[in-house]
Amino acid sequence: MAQLASERQSKILDLLRLQGTVETNALAEELGVSTMTIHRDLNKLAEAGIINKVHGGATLYKPMEKPISPDLCPTCGKVVKERTAFILHTDNGDQYRACCPHCGLMLIASSTNIKSALATDFLYGTIVSITQTTFLMHSNLTVCCSPTILTFDKPEDAIRFQRGFGGTLADYETARQFIQHSMHPNMRPNEVE
Ligand SMILES: [Zn+2]
Ligand SMILES: [Zn+2]
Repeated sequence: MAQLASERQSKILDLLRLQGTVETNALAEELGVSTMTIHRDLNKLAEAGIINKVHGGATLYKPMEKPISPDLCPTCGKVVKERTAFILHTDNGDQYRACCPHCGLMLIASSTNIKSALATDFLYGTIVSITQTTFLMHSNLTVCCSPTILTFDKPEDAIRFQRGFGGTLADYETARQFIQHSMHPNMRPNEVE
């Protein structure tokens, strides 16, 4: 069965998104083509800046992130990761994604045109309306910007995390006020990576 190069390449990308890395030999077997063909596919993807070729295979250029034009956090400039993304909608319909709840709340506190916001459940990666979100402030687990703020869909998950890693539970309003109080002109999110 003949397969278009573009179909093969998008299959390779799917596998990379799932696994983070792929091996040339395994790909050739799985897709029923020669390793030379796989090499050409990988070269094409590497030229496009989507993947890195490594010995015997390839990795996503930026593992765990959207490979094409990843969002940069408007607060701190870090690449936004799906697992901690904090999504903001402005009055005029623009959407911003902050790297984590910390930066998201900073953005809300410093702007006047945010209409609504969504958080990502830290455990399951589901998107949660901001008013339903349980915030875990300043736990010992450092994720993205410090002090770390984690967001959960279910209060019981947040409580379980608090038992393990400490911190203070808060609803949206409390979390927002907390950030507003902690902000002063010199404060920037710490780079922890
Ligand atoms: Zn940020
Ligand atoms: Zn962050």
